[in-house]
Amino acid sequence: MSGRELDLTRSREAMAAAEAVIPGGVNSPVRALRAVGGAPFFADRGEGPFVWDVDGNRCVDLILSWGPLILGHRHPEVLAAIRDQLERGLTYGMPTREEVDLATLLTRALPGLEKVRLVNSGTEAVMSAVRVARGFTGRPKVIKFAGCYHGHADHLLVKAGSGALTFGAPDSAGVPEEFAAHTLTLPYNDPAALREVFRVAGRDIAAVLVEPVAGNMGVVPPAHDFIETLATVPAAHGALLILDEVMTGFRVAWGGAQVPLGLRPDLTCLGKVIGGGLPVGAYGGRADVMGKVAPLGPVYQAGTLSGNPLSVAAGLATLRVLERTRPYDALDDRCGRLAEGLQAAAAEAGVPVQVQRVGTMFTVFFTAEPVRDYDAARRCDTKAFASFFQEMRRQGVLLPPSQFEAAFWSTAHGDSEVEAVLAAARPAFRKVREARDG
Ligand SMILES: *Cc1c(COP(=O)(O)O)cnc(C)c1O
Repeated sequence: MSGRELDLTRSREAMAAAEAVIPGGVNSPVRALRAVGGAPFFADRGEGPFVWDVDGNRCVDLILSWGPLILGHRHPEVLAAIRDQLERGLTYGMPTREEVDLATLLTRALPGLEKVRLVNSGTEAVMSAVRVARGFTGRPKVIKFAGCYHGHADHLLVKAGSGALTFGAPDSAGVPEEFAAHTLTLPYNDPAALREVFRVAGRDIAAVLVEPVAGNMGVVPPAHDFIETLATVPAAHGALLILDEVMTGFRVAWGGAQVPLGLRPDLTCLGKVIGGGLPVGAYGGRADVMGKVAPLGPVYQAGTLSGNPLSVAAGLATLRVLERTRPYDALDDRCGRLAEGLQAAAAEAGVPVQVQRVGTMFTVFFTAEPVRDYDAARRCDTKAFASFFQEMRRQGVLLPPSQFEAAFWSTAHGDSEVEAVLAAARPAFRKVREARDG
């Protein structure tokens, strides 16, 4: 049984118009669906767990704007907060009390976050955190891990996961080699490699930058010994630990992954959920380190729209709902049943997959081996994934259109969405097997 063919006429028309004036027709590359092929998706509206395209096709939304919408589309309290701010103006370029409320809430939720600054995107948050780490330590080098993505700052576009992985271009054109010369890339989940690089170059290393749960090569949980090494080795050499929780922050747990993992980083980067669906980023941590930031210290960082009142309103409303309702156990339970159901449906269809999940982030990897790092992720059968994606879409479920992305779950997704996704997945896995067996 295969799903009805979708009418995608209007999405195709919109894409043709878009391609004439926007590079690739999109404002962020993965939206072009190049990795999976087929017609693009032009969104028309969202409601709770659903998103509709401009042709009127309804999908269970597992993209959720790539992570921010942990409460689903159009949560009433978030909309009300935005409306309230809207009536008082869009932006002032002056501090507001709500920025203080958001910063206070963030510092309460994250034990190591003593001071925090708001910016406009995750990219900006990480770029600024690295600058502060270099300014504080007076050292040039930064360690990152293959397959982790930290935004598109020049020196961090090295083996950078998701988009870069999907397009087979781990190093972007337009980045001079010298700009990336101070970026050292190691395999994820490899404590020995981390210890070794500190033994050789410890005095030059300003910071270790890491996704505490990797989400940008698909979901890869951290190994216990990797976390232990992150907690001890950089500190022993006077380097800072920067956790990039732009994706995991307030998604895998209240605060972020660092809370259940028991990590206390020197700096944390946030974004996505803390803006409730509007553009935002934040970086912060130890008061002495953040004391280097202008106007207190010599590290410059600024932004015309930083702490934007609408973003702050949407973010505060989202975090207040999360703080009041503490949905994380229920989310974990439901998303866990979904992941188990997907693994079982694949087994029944005779398709080897690894459903890897942490909280409400998950990836169906088309491989027989657990995925612990970037090399293992790259061994997945991306053709099988593309066929799975297309059939899921026909059946009314919108997955992220790449093998190397995390799918997301929200509080608006209920038991009926678990059932809907599994009902779509059974024929989709059978399709994958049929294609494989010819
Ligand atoms: C999304 C993401 C970023 C970049 O955030 P933008 O808001 O897209 O600039 C950085 N780091 C991680 C871990 C992310 O998932």
